[in-house]
Amino acid sequence: MASKKYKPSQETLSKSRRTAKSWSKGSSEKQFYAKKKQWDEEEDAVPNRAVSMSPRLKNIQQKTFLPSENTFEGHVIDSTGRSFIVQRTSEEINVGALYDCVVSRSVVTENPASTLVAVGDHVLCRAEPVSGEIDLLPGVIIKITERRTKLARESAGNDGIEQVIVSNIDQVIILMAAADPFYNRRLIDRYLIAAELGNVEPIICINKMDLMDETFVREDLAMYAEFLGIKTLFLSAEKKRGLETLSPVLQGKTTVFSGPSGVGKSTLVNMLIGEEAQITTEVSAKTQKGLHTTTFSKIFPLPEGGYILDTPGIREFGIWDMTKEDLAYYFHDFDEYRLECRFTPCTHTHEPGCAVKGALEEGWIDPERYESYLNILETLER
Ligand code: GDP
Ligand code: ZN
Repeated sequence: MASKKYKPSQETLSKSRRTAKSWSKGSSEKQFYAKKKQWDEEEDAVPNRAVSMSPRLKNIQQKTFLPSENTFEGHVIDSTGRSFIVQRTSEEINVGALYDCVVSRSVVTENPASTLVAVGDHVLCRAEPVSGEIDLLPGVIIKITERRTKLARESAGNDGIEQVIVSNIDQVIILMAAADPFYNRRLIDRYLIAAELGNVEPIICINKMDLMDETFVREDLAMYAEFLGIKTLFLSAEKKRGLETLSPVLQGKTTVFSGPSGVGKSTLVNMLIGEEAQITTEVSAKTQKGLHTTTFSKIFPLPEGGYILDTPGIREFGIWDMTKEDLAYYFHDFDEYRLECRFTPCTHTHEPGCAVKGALEEGWIDPERYESYLNILETLER
């Protein structure tokens, strides 16, 4: 689990050690700085100190004890591996400012048995004293609030522990291509379940419609809209066709785009973000020069309101911690038949008197969906 692996930076550790030495536990930061000011004044009042501070030491002391702005609320917009980039949302001052935050050793989280900090999280932070020339303001994450929604996968080697890839988003666009590469219905079905598990609305979006017979693709995927009520969009980023159906869906929402590589995600996202937002992103990347090698802002504001969130791990979100028995509940096209099976529980595979198989044989259930069901069932352990 990330919380176990997390190590605060050396700087934070030594700072907190120094602080702990000179000030007792439980005092507020404000009190601390008030006291510090008093000490400084007392020090200044002594005219000829026997031992003068070396310039280097003095520098360190100033770095450590400059007053900070106490706590603020923020939004995790990126992870650098070493730390997290938090955008301040508290209104009073510095709203929108970016902080490079480590996680406090006594951090509190409202998301047990889960990734400690994920992109999209709403957090409470403590601003740290500013030292010298900095690229980003320093901060410490002290609390992570409950995630409203999330896309997750099971973390490698940790049974039953979810790894959150992104949180607090409204919807996920399951982006596939009509061809080159041909859309993968198994993958669509997996993504649909993962989205439902995380309480995120899924939208199926088929790009590169210029490469295929439109009628064929629309008919092949018609059941998603007709039987499952999932918004399904067909477009061509290259030919700029169908984009007008996408914009209203994104407006005012926080959306992530997910799908295999080569389907046109970058092309589409670049088109949607628009020139203005791209300029803003470039500027912020320049002012934070040299600190992080990753592409900078991962949350892009849309010209008509709403955000697109771009995160590298998003291709890999999936189904985790699900029992074989539970899987059928996520195949809503089975809903009507599930309750009619002779045995409960029924895996809808070999049981006699299985109403789901009956419906399949009579053509009420799409055979491709049943294939998906079997496919996922095989991968579940319990
Ligand atoms: P990503 O890997 O999903 O980010 O895909 P890219 O945006 O890099 O696109 C992969 C390739 O598909 C590029 O060569 C694009 O020019 C091409 N492409 C993107 N959208 C379309 C489309 O609507 N039609 C066609 N024919 N090609 C497209
Ligand atoms: Zn059954």
